[in-house]
Amino acid sequence: LIGEYDSKNIFAKILSGDIPCAKVYEDARVLSFMDAFPQSKGHTLVIPKVKARNLFDIPSEHLQNLIHQTQRIARAVNTSLEPDGIRIAQFNGEPAGQTVFHLHFHIIPCWDAGKLKG
Ligand code: 5GP
Repeated sequence: LIGEYDSKNIFAKILSGDIPCAKVYEDARVLSFMDAFPQSKGHTLVIPKVKARNLFDIPSEHLQNLIHQTQRIARAVNTSLEPDGIRIAQFNGEPAGQTVFHLHFHIIPCWDAGKLKG
């Protein structure tokens, strides 16, 4: 978990507009967009605009805002898709499953087994 922020990571390119994304929400401090390889219908990502590789890199006031926005966007996902559950996931470091080294929260709608909605 020790290291430098790599400005060539894919989410940095999305933030700079070099790579397109399906935008869900944007303001001065955060960007939210659809995951390109969704684990379920409505799989959404929320990222801060500050350069942070993971949860440990981000100043707490930015983290506070990021989790607040994640809650707001998850509420909207809940209202629009009416899933049976929503997983919020966040990975730090490759062994933990992180593949893009710009901090992000996953919003993953979940449906009861047997239902075909998700
Ligand atoms: P991680 O495993 O690092 O927590 O999650 C990275 C997420 O980014 C994965 O769910 C993956 O599907 C998603 N992802 C990877 N490349 C792209 C991309 O180019 N665009 C979008 N929208 N999502 C991506």
